[in-house]
Amino acid sequence: MPGRLRGLLQAPDDLMLEAGAVGEVLVARIRLVAVLLIVPMPLIARVTGAPDEEVRTGALVALIALVFSIALLRRVRRRGADVRWRFVSAAFDITAISVVLGLFLLQQLPHIAINSRVVWELYLISIAATALRGDARVCLFAGLLALLQYAAILAAATTLFGDLSDPKWAPFLYGHLSWGDQISRLILIVVATLLALAAVYQTRKLLVLSSQDKLTGIRNRAWLDSRLERELTEARLRRRPLCLAMVDVDGFKPFNDRYGHLCGDAALRAIGQRLAARVGEGGFVARYGGEEFTVVLPGVVLDDAHAHCDRIRAQFGADLIERPGNAGTVASPTLSFGLAQWQAGESDEALIDRADRALIRAKQAGRDRVVRAEPAVL
Ligand code: GH3
Ligand code: MG
Ligand code: MG
Repeated sequence: MPGRLRGLLQAPDDLMLEAGAVGEVLVARIRLVAVLLIVPMPLIARVTGAPDEEVRTGALVALIALVFSIALLRRVRRRGADVRWRFVSAAFDITAISVVLGLFLLQQLPHIAINSRVVWELYLISIAATALRGDARVCLFAGLLALLQYAAILAAATTLFGDLSDPKWAPFLYGHLSWGDQISRLILIVVATLLALAAVYQTRKLLVLSSQDKLTGIRNRAWLDSRLERELTEARLRRRPLCLAMVDVDGFKPFNDRYGHLCGDAALRAIGQRLAARVGEGGFVARYGGEEFTVVLPGVVLDDAHAHCDRIRAQFGADLIERPGNAGTVASPTLSFGLAQWQAGESDEALIDRADRALIRAKQAGRDRVVRAEPAVL
């Protein structure tokens, strides 16, 4: 398997998980709107003289779809980030379409099952929608499921009902069986799946471009702003603590002056990556700008955050920076931290401002230390 495809089919990273959680809610909303639009269709069909049996089946299917769509929207609003759920909801969409086609078979209407003009197209729409879920594995899963289920319906229609060209099926309102058309349909499912995979690939590339800092490779300020806003909403809703540290490289101007800006760049890259690795799984780091970084520790109280930041800070004291052009190594600059715990009712800007003031005090006190912010005045 080519490396690019293998990378695409791995579990999504945090960027795609976030995008997929938003996408799952979007899919659920669009599904509900689509179902609301089709609910009146059986009534319209009745007015235009469709057979009672068809109208009854249509109304029943529309009502069941409505109930499921509302339940799915409620569920993904709460659990949008659950990756397994994305497979379940994609399977629901595809299987719902197959069930409707299967109902035509149960009603002895095989020509509608294999030549349906609206229901079948929903396979393509559902596969396209998987791209919004941000996980290539879900796209592939939905495409394969649609292929298998439609092939099963086709097999059932052509083996259970005898000769489908028999005049007893006249007047063939939905057309005859055409193998050329059926094979084209299977190919279209494959094409829709490939397009969904391409959309996920492209989305990931754009997301990385827009959220990554070019020099250090860690997250940038734009990403931090939106992530912090969401973390604070979570902290508010779950009454969970959150700590934020503004981190500034000590004496970086003299470092640049002494070793050159290229070496300064190498130092920033190493510091950013080490900081991100040392903060660990529970927290996150972004380059705030220049030689300043932001560390966010959701779910951590001030005492623990202080101890954690101090451990991280101490490690930089022993670090070396590789000078560009194999010119040996130099001691890494140290870091100063201004640390604040979020207080209920405080905005993200106010929290950053408090941490910033603590950072200034850390510099005034001699650098290479963690200083706690004053409590917020709310
Ligand atoms: P302090 O300990 O008080 O923070 O002193 P400092 O020298 O680090 O502070 P100052 O704000 O005076 O200097 C920051 C320097 O960071 C100035 C600027 O040239 C440098 N800098 C900012 N961004 C980059 C970058 O992307 N690459 C390099 N090489 N230097 C950068
Ligand atoms: Mg600075
Ligand atoms: Mg500095």
